[in-house]
Amino acid sequence: MDTTPTGLGKSELDYSTISLENFPERKVWLKTFGCQMNYHDSDRMVAHLKRLNFSQTSDLEEADLVLFNTCAVRDLANNKFYSQLGELKHLKKKKGSDLIIGVGGCVAQTEGKDLIKKYKHLNFAFGPDTMDSINDMVYRTYAGDDKFAINSWDRSSDFSIETKINHGTPQAFVNIIKGCDKYCTYCIVPYTRGRERSRKKDEIVQDVKRLVEYQGIQEVMLLGQNVNSFGKENGENLSELIMDLDQINGLEILRYTTSHPYDVSDQLIEVHGSAKKLSKHLHLPVQSGSDTVLQRMNREYTKEHYLGLLEKLRKSQPEIVISSDIICGFVNETDEEHKETIDLLDRAQFDFIYSYVYSERSKTRASKMDDFLTKEVRKARLHEVQAHQLKIQEKIRKSMEGNTYRVLVEGSNEMKGEKKWKGRTNCNRIIHFKGEMKGHEIDRNLKWHWVDVKCISTTALSCQGELQEIYGRRLQ
Ligand code: SF4
Repeated sequence: MDTTPTGLGKSELDYSTISLENFPERKVWLKTFGCQMNYHDSDRMVAHLKRLNFSQTSDLEEADLVLFNTCAVRDLANNKFYSQLGELKHLKKKKGSDLIIGVGGCVAQTEGKDLIKKYKHLNFAFGPDTMDSINDMVYRTYAGDDKFAINSWDRSSDFSIETKINHGTPQAFVNIIKGCDKYCTYCIVPYTRGRERSRKKDEIVQDVKRLVEYQGIQEVMLLGQNVNSFGKENGENLSELIMDLDQINGLEILRYTTSHPYDVSDQLIEVHGSAKKLSKHLHLPVQSGSDTVLQRMNREYTKEHYLGLLEKLRKSQPEIVISSDIICGFVNETDEEHKETIDLLDRAQFDFIYSYVYSERSKTRASKMDDFLTKEVRKARLHEVQAHQLKIQEKIRKSMEGNTYRVLVEGSNEMKGEKKWKGRTNCNRIIHFKGEMKGHEIDRNLKWHWVDVKCISTTALSCQGELQEIYGRRLQ
């Protein structure tokens, strides 16, 4: 078994000497866990695999290659992955060497060698920094060299990639920075994704122009673990990148995630007021309302600093809506510290939050702290935070009633036996509406059309609307 890092960063295959006829048609089944960055990486892998004549399938039985893109951040995703990987031994037994199984992503980065030893049916494992070499790994496996784990870092001085998408929708994720230097004490990401490295601003602008011109992309989400750190090593920054992208004809909406409050600059706050295409939504994870908990998390800001940022953002862009992440029951959180978070919810008036109970990740600094909180206390605090936030959300959503929103329709679903379309507003709220306008049924597929929808009723978690206008697939 070879578990030596090979140093693979970029693909080593020479495609000029390889043609698709060299490869039979094959199918890849791919399961992604975790964050948007992982979904983005999965898209890249599928695009690479096309060059080896693979197409995607949702039917496990017909797969020649099964890939998992894993997440080490949350227990739930982790447990699901282990259970699905374990189950695959039956399929492997049935298909033998006709089935190759690979595990990529954050779990593979830290546990790849152990996975290879433990799961006899697993062929190879690879960390996030080697995703772009997926074809080399598959090629190597077909050549008979399997049972390997690669967890090396791409150490080339430039982080340079081209965005690869396969989905045919007008929305695209564009990775602008990878890794994270923040080392929040609860987070495994700096150990699984490595140090921060940014792409060059000009390369990203060209990349997005190409996506808009040749692939019909209208909405772009700039991605990174901490996008606010973008460009530091190259003397560039996120504000300048946004202002450059704002000039691209045909691009309608620009979003970015994930942000760290410490790196939100005054310049970026100003850009929220001036960039025409920048979404009027910002996801700004706060994690806790207690200064002492924030210190133990190594978050590098205080509650007042955070609230001050919200005030400045709302002054710069009065229509902005803010969402956040909250960790309930961090190590040794006291009742007083928990109450500070409830107070923060009242003062911040978030549009929505993602809230979790703290769960220990091995290798992190928090996992080495003595911890006296019980699961029950953590859960009770989570429920309190969620119930409190829902009351706030209910009021905020109510204020949407009567307003008309321009939305990009993303699809439809059945709601109480009725077909409803759903679209996303500029400020990232989902609105559901029937396919009828001014009393007439609309017999038209509205998916990926721009429409105006009037919000007529809301709850804390949903908005219902009435279709007002249909603009088609393009606004201009
Ligand atoms: S900023 Fe903190 S929470 Fe976010 S990826 Fe970096 S270490 Fe993890």
